[in-house]
Amino acid sequence: MIKEGLKVELSHLRPWSFTKVQKAKKCQYEFFFRYVEKLEPLERADFFVLGSGVHFVLENALNTAFEGKEPLSKKLLFRFAEQFKESEPLADLKKISEFFPNILKFVNGQLRRAKGSSLVASEIELAVDSSLKLAPYFSDKVYLRGKLDFIFSKDETLYIVDHKTSRSWEFNNKVKTQLRWYALLASIKFPQFEKFALEVHNVRYGSIKRLIFTKRELLSFKEKLLPLITRVEENYIGKGFKELQPSPCEANCQWCEYRHICPFGGSY
Ligand code: SF4
Repeated sequence: MIKEGLKVELSHLRPWSFTKVQKAKKCQYEFFFRYVEKLEPLERADFFVLGSGVHFVLENALNTAFEGKEPLSKKLLFRFAEQFKESEPLADLKKISEFFPNILKFVNGQLRRAKGSSLVASEIELAVDSSLKLAPYFSDKVYLRGKLDFIFSKDETLYIVDHKTSRSWEFNNKVKTQLRWYALLASIKFPQFEKFALEVHNVRYGSIKRLIFTKRELLSFKEKLLPLITRVEENYIGKGFKELQPSPCEANCQWCEYRHICPFGGSY
């Protein structure tokens, strides 16, 4: 199954997204299966499918509302959920529809908050090259990239909203780092703003938590992030599967999508 002689190259590592860096730090075997061998995962866990479905409905609801195409209703949201199911047959429409009241409340709230903003957009793809200059999202030059769910501006502040469906209320370090990553990319694309307000919208609870970053804080984040990515690249580049280190433990292996081919997959 594992290809002999296959070595990790820079093209397997870049472009880096926040999730990809997390995977690289989590388990080298999983990273190799996913990004170097590019193997299909066995199957997606139910909560990933549900999260993607809720995300899809929410993005479509936001776009419809801000473009003023048609009034929002549960019936319309159900139509979006059905569209999602066409590409993801495992999607559970009943479970997705449990999020509809919070989706409607959120979208109507954002319509009010973003009124009069000079900049409103959803699903913004941002990418930079290794000099941290903007680059086309799918070009070979891309070093870092990320997708912002929803943004709007108020005076000197750019609001960046990230939707989550997790059960956790926690605003842990991982989430904070992810928000800084988005804010850094946004500060490069939209240098006219002085502050970046990152909001985590938990669709499950209908809650919003916010962190505000200044340009100075993002500069210090950048100074830590770039050496970290260099170290990650040094840990992988030129190595074959046998030279990599797995990180088997319950937390890593329980939801790993490559358990079926990993020598340690059955241990947890
Ligand atoms: S099963 Fe565990 S050790 Fe194996 S690839 Fe997945 S996370 Fe790594």
